[in-house]
Order: sequence, then C-alpha cells, then structure tokens
Amino acid sequence: MRFRPIAFLSCVLLLSVAPGRAVSAAQSPEPRLRAGAATSNITPALGGDIVGGWAPMTATDVHDELHARCLVLDDGQGRLAIVVVDSLGVPRHVVDRARALATAHTGIPAERILVSATHTHSATSALGQRWSPAEYEQAPALDPYQDFLATRIADGIRRAVANLRPAQIAWGRGALPDEVFNRRWHMKPGPHMRNPFGGTDRVQMNPPIGSPDLIEPAGPTDPEIAVLAVRGVDGHPIAVLANYSLHYVGGVPQGHVSADYFGVFARVLARMLGEDRADSTFVPMLSNGTSGDINNVDLRGGQPKLPPYERMTRVATRVAAEVSQALPHLTWRDHVSLASTQRVLTLRRRPITPELRAWAREALARPADAARHPRERIYAERVEGSSAAPATLDVVLQAHRIGDLAITTFPFEVFAEIGLEIKARTPFGQTFTTSLANGSEGYLPTEPQHALGGYETWLGTNRVQLDAARMMTDALLAMLAELKAQASASPVTR
Ligand SMILES: [Zn+2]
Repeated sequence: MRFRPIAFLSCVLLLSVAPGRAVSAAQSPEPRLRAGAATSNITPALGGDIVGGWAPMTATDVHDELHARCLVLDDGQGRLAIVVVDSLGVPRHVVDRARALATAHTGIPAERILVSATHTHSATSALGQRWSPAEYEQAPALDPYQDFLATRIADGIRRAVANLRPAQIAWGRGALPDEVFNRRWHMKPGPHMRNPFGGTDRVQMNPPIGSPDLIEPAGPTDPEIAVLAVRGVDGHPIAVLANYSLHYVGGVPQGHVSADYFGVFARVLARMLGEDRADSTFVPMLSNGTSGDINNVDLRGGQPKLPPYERMTRVATRVAAEVSQALPHLTWRDHVSLASTQRVLTLRRRPITPELRAWAREALARPADAARHPRERIYAERVEGSSAAPATLDVVLQAHRIGDLAITTFPFEVFAEIGLEIKARTPFGQTFTTSLANGSEGYLPTEPQHALGGYETWLGTNRVQLDAARMMTDALLAMLAELKAQASASPVTR
C-alpha cells in the first residue's frame, strides 16, 4: 500500500507504512469499486456578512479559502456523492438546487447525494435573509452567493464523477476525548440563569471559564473520530472523510474568512500523507458529527489565551494525526455495495402563541438600554419573524450504507447524545452521523434537554416540536434497519 505519510510525526510515519490488510478482488465475483473526488473553491467576495456570531460582521480578508469537498463512490449498480461544504449552514433550498443540478449532469439521484456544512463560524452567510417572511416562501429565490454555492457544489460532484477510477475503500475509527467538552452546565442558581423570555433555565451554555457556579455538564461528549478512506489501485489516496463531534474551534481576527479547523485538518492531513504537492488530487474532508452541545473549551481546566488560528491548528493537527494513525490498521476492500434511503419528515414548528407575541411586542417597544436580558431584543425579533412561518417544516433525513458502514444525517445542529444513541443501536458494524446535512434548521436538543432550558432550547435557536429529536432518531434507526434487511436479503450486496 502507498497511503504514505511524510515524516510529520515519526510515530505517524512508522504506523502508516505498516501494511494494511487487503481483501483480494480475485475472491470476489462483484465488479470493482470506483471512486473519484474533487474540490470546488466556494470563497465569497469580500464585503459579505460573516454570520457565526450574535451580530454579522463584514468580511474584510480571506485567511484561507473555503471549499466544497466532494467524494463520489460507484459500486457498479449506483453512485453515492458525499459533499462537505465550508459554511455555517446551507439551507435546504440551496442544497436542493445543487442536487438538482448534479442529478441533471450525472444522473445521481437526490437521495444519493449528501451535502453537509462544516459549521465554520468564519464564512459569509449561505443562509440568506433569515427571520424574514421571505424565508418561508415556498421556493425562495437564491441570492447571488447561494446561486454560486449551489453551482459550485454541483460542479464538484460532476468533476468527482469525471475522476472516477478503480479504487479500494476502508473505514474505521480513532478517538480524541480531550478536545471535546459539553458546553451546557448545571449551575448554582443566580441571575445568570435567566433567559431572554423572562424565565429561569436550569442549565447555562458556555458559562465563564472557572466560574464558582459550575456544578456539572448537562450531557455527554462523543470522542470518536470516524474515518472513511478511499485510494486508487496504485495506492495513492483519493479521499479521506473523517467525522468528529466538535462544534468548531474559532479564534480568528475580526473580518477574516476561514474554513476554521476543518480547513486546517485538510491541509495537515494532506501534509501527513505526503499529498501536499500542488499536483496532488487528494481530497481530505472533515464533516461535523453531533456537536450541537459540544465545544473545545475546558471550563474547569482553564486554557491559555492563544494567538489567532493557534488553537484551531493544534486541535486540527491532533484530529489529523489520529486519522493518519488509524489508516494503516484499516482493512482495504476492492468492492463494497452501496445503498441509500431518504425520508422527508414533516415536523411541527413550535407555536408562536399570543402570549409570546405580546412579550415580543413589549420587548421591542422597550428602549435598548432598558432591556431585561442582553439577548431579549434578538429573540423578540426572532419570535416576530417566525410568526409568518407555516405551521410545519419538512426536513430531509438520509441513511447511506457503504458495506458495513452507515452514515445517518440530520439537517440540524444535533446534540451528542443523539449521535451516541444511533451508534449504540445501529445494526451496522460502524455508523456515524453528519449534522447540518441537506439543510440548516437550528439546534436539535432532546426532550430531556429541552426541560433543562438553555440557549440551544430557546425558541428562535430551536424551532421545531420538542420531541423532534425522538421522531427523527426513530426514523433513522428504522431506515438503518431497512438498509440492513436489504443487505441481508441479497448475497451480492455485502
Ligand atoms: Zn454554531
């Protein structure tokens, strides 16, 4: 095998040149797997709004380019396209446009195209005008950046198809437990537990580091790094897709466009594998796992203040090293069968009650310096904006099978406990979940987390019925069971 790193870390070098096991094509009657990958530059023009914070700020510089990273697999029966986009979130109608364009050019059906956002907080918005009634129109027009983005995603899929060649595939996992922290904390009571709606929460998001009011985190973390690797029959890497449940890292100067640690991961992994040459076609991809309540801040241990980009570089380098060290131990296959299933679920939006509307009107009428909560006005605007929304929201769920590996998707910022439940209950050897896939519909707490309150549960941060996580988790587990039954019924699908 020639999945060959250069000497970035000596231990990585030694581990990575150890021969991986391979399953021979000669034993298999199935056609050979083919794979292709490509990267589209999706960097916006300067002057747009960067949207990761409470208030948008203008993009004045590009620290590193943004990309849509595309992998297409072909098992001889059908194809699967996986796209990871450097964006805070890509709304459903933009993904739908991208998928329609890709389908028109490649024939890959929409349910076999997975488009997810990394959730970098340093990209200009692909979300369009949120919180205005226009958002809720049946088919909102794409703004110029959304149109560009949809086209570039489709371009990437088309180019990945054009690059299809005989390949081998492998998957596995590593773990990095000490870079993930649950950011929701049970706290001692006090004014810090008040929410913008005039109520009191039982947990607080991102409380101050070292606060004497800290009691304990309100949920688990998922330390796993899932790895899907594809290489040509000549041993050269085609793509590596990793998945880690960390919201983002951040730490960029004001006005900088950056792909955050997702972009650093791609650059560092390419370097570790000796694929940082200008002529390399290797596509490294890091997708966002279930990280709605997970960050990179050690509230109890304390963390030194670091210069811009330093922390994301440290974290990404550790994630890439973990992936690089996992690669030599994977079992490479000449063929796997692919299968996908998609469901569109209709969820109820959380109702904007007359009481809420009255609260919002009163809050917006109050002078800014008389606000009862620092975020009162923002949430009042969100309540007002949401009042024009239809009562229901259709969301796309997908489950994909690649041999004995499965990928499930949600168009939300999914809490870690949801991903852990799917991993515990999956019928497949390995499963991971991609958040912010095929849409961007806000946070997805579980019902017990809704009962605790906190930022992620506030109406406007979360917008769907309180048992939506249960409904979607059950639907995805049923979809995995369907894929498993199909695979078991057909001897040639394993
Ligand atoms: Zn976020």
